[in-house]
Amino acid sequence: MSEILPAAGVAFPLQVPVLVIGAGACGLVAALAAHDAGADVLVLERDPSPSGSTAMSSGMIPAAGTALQMARGVVDTPAIMAADIQAKAHGENDPAMVAAICAASGPTIDWLVQRHHVPLTLVEGFLYPGHSKPRMHAPASRSGADLIGGLLAAAQAAGIDIVCDARVTVLYADPDGTVHGVELQRPDGSRERIGCQALVLACSGFGGNAEMVARHIPELQGAQYYGHTGNRGDALLWGEALGAATGQLGAYQGHGSLAMPQAILITWALMMEGGFQVNAAGARFSCEHDGYSEQAMRVIAQPGGVAWNIYDERLHRLGLDFEDYRDAVKAGAIKSAASIEALAALCGLPADALAASLRETQALAAGQGADRFGRDFTGKPGLAAPFHAVKVTGALFHTQGGLLVDADARVLRRDGGPLPNLLAGGGAACGLSGKGRDGYLSGNGLLAATVLGAKAGRMAAKLVGKGD
Ligand SMILES: Cc1cc2nc3c(=O)[nH]c(=O)nc-3n(C[C@H](O)[C@H](O)[C@H](O)COP(=O)(O)OP(=O)(O)OC[C@H]3O[C@@H](n4cnc5c(N)ncnc54)[C@H](O)[C@@H]3O)c2cc1C
Repeated sequence: MSEILPAAGVAFPLQVPVLVIGAGACGLVAALAAHDAGADVLVLERDPSPSGSTAMSSGMIPAAGTALQMARGVVDTPAIMAADIQAKAHGENDPAMVAAICAASGPTIDWLVQRHHVPLTLVEGFLYPGHSKPRMHAPASRSGADLIGGLLAAAQAAGIDIVCDARVTVLYADPDGTVHGVELQRPDGSRERIGCQALVLACSGFGGNAEMVARHIPELQGAQYYGHTGNRGDALLWGEALGAATGQLGAYQGHGSLAMPQAILITWALMMEGGFQVNAAGARFSCEHDGYSEQAMRVIAQPGGVAWNIYDERLHRLGLDFEDYRDAVKAGAIKSAASIEALAALCGLPADALAASLRETQALAAGQGADRFGRDFTGKPGLAAPFHAVKVTGALFHTQGGLLVDADARVLRRDGGPLPNLLAGGGAACGLSGKGRDGYLSGNGLLAATVLGAKAGRMAAKLVGKGD
């Protein structure tokens, strides 16, 4: 339940200047930014300990012009990054918002690393679809759990209070949209009220709310959701009730490579570096380099809603750089064989068809002919024995539409201008991924969480008279 109730006459036994709902990447970054600006801040989290979709992610945050890039000789700029984002989203994003977020991305990562010692490294060795430069910054493990761990350690070092087992159910507001406080519910059913002067909605999108997914993204009705189940669309529902504008509600991050039945993310790096996908008939069915988000629906459309990722030992070793992939190995999801025929037998695929698909991709890698799906296989070696395979399906990872915010992360009204003291970032806000399934550029999720989170925290501090 997520309600807006009148604030008039409501008492708040506890008052904090800045209140943040949600302790994922967005909420924790917002809290750090508000704290750095001199504001007292409290974070409320519905779970017993913070994790969110952030902990399920690969922890990859894109940013341009960072100190980590410069140290590795990577020349990248906000303008190049903005062009990559807009190209993937077919120019459907507000160019001013894209420019503002890309311009702030480098300073945000430098601030998290240098001031708060969040352990990020530059990810090298492969590029995600649509990235023209190495600009992903992630924990060395490439694990979102380590990202949330680093942010929690920073919050703890800064003395920021995080109250867990605190699901916010009600916002108390005036008719003009000024929020005066919230009501939260404890697991035992008891309720508490906390007053605030500025509120940051960092409680992400609506992927965990099947009814809202069916309404806004009908093509994904009934599809597997592999994001944080506690993200039930509260920010969107509250914002709409307060008169906020919303945008791009049909946009989402899907993924066409979730190991079945183990439900473990298999990195798309395998596809980018030479791997390919086949269906149950052993046949390729798409250009794997268009993007992993749109690949979700393509995989779901195959017989049985599944596909097989086919790759070799070189790519298996690349996969082992990822914690999720190592988990998939441990779980027995990866099939390995000395020949393609033996692999086909292990996977229950027709050997002739799988061998033909392999020969086709080997020829394309050698520069012979053009791919019927438009993928460029050159520049990477053709696959060589021994071979590996993993059965995957397509899934919804998180929603990308949400509340419209300005470049300071202030939530905008439907009739123009910002709401008085409401901010949003991450999955709660409208993202930079266009209108549908195929506008998501890798990293757009944590980009909005970290950059808009930092902006929201700074602006919230300003609204309570702190910072500049
Ligand atoms: C498997 C997977 C891999 C991904 N990999 C990447 C990647 O490598 N790079 C990338 O950029 N993006 C990635 N994403 C997307 C990325 O994880 C999200 O975009 C990002 O984590 C969103 O951050 P957030 O803080 O907005 O939300 P979350 O991290 O989900 O945090 C929201 C928090 O709010 C809490 N909450 C919700 N409602 C309430 C309430 N009413 N009261 C109190 N608390 C509440 C939730 O419990 C949760 O802890 C991935 C997603 C998935 C699922």
